[in-house]
Amino acid sequence: MTAFMNPDDDRPWAARAECRGEDPTMFFPGTDDDPSLGLAVCARCPVRQECLDYAIEARERYGIWGGTTERQRRRMVRRSA
Ligand code: SF4
Repeated sequence: MTAFMNPDDDRPWAARAECRGEDPTMFFPGTDDDPSLGLAVCARCPVRQECLDYAIEARERYGIWGGTTERQRRRMVRRSA
């Protein structure tokens, strides 16, 4: 098990990320895997909005960020275009 957020991560919100120290595989489920474990961690994360903003801005294609799956983020980006 390794930290999902790198301890040297210099994004200002990363220090408060609830996923620090969690199993990163929870945040990168396979296509047929249930994403609920990672989403449950995000649900109690105090920096969820910052994380989501980052993921959209950085066009993070893979994984769970800010309480969203990659499919949900694609939909959000399409809607805002
Ligand atoms: S919202 Fe989720 S992925 Fe983002 S920092 Fe918080 S726990 Fe980690």
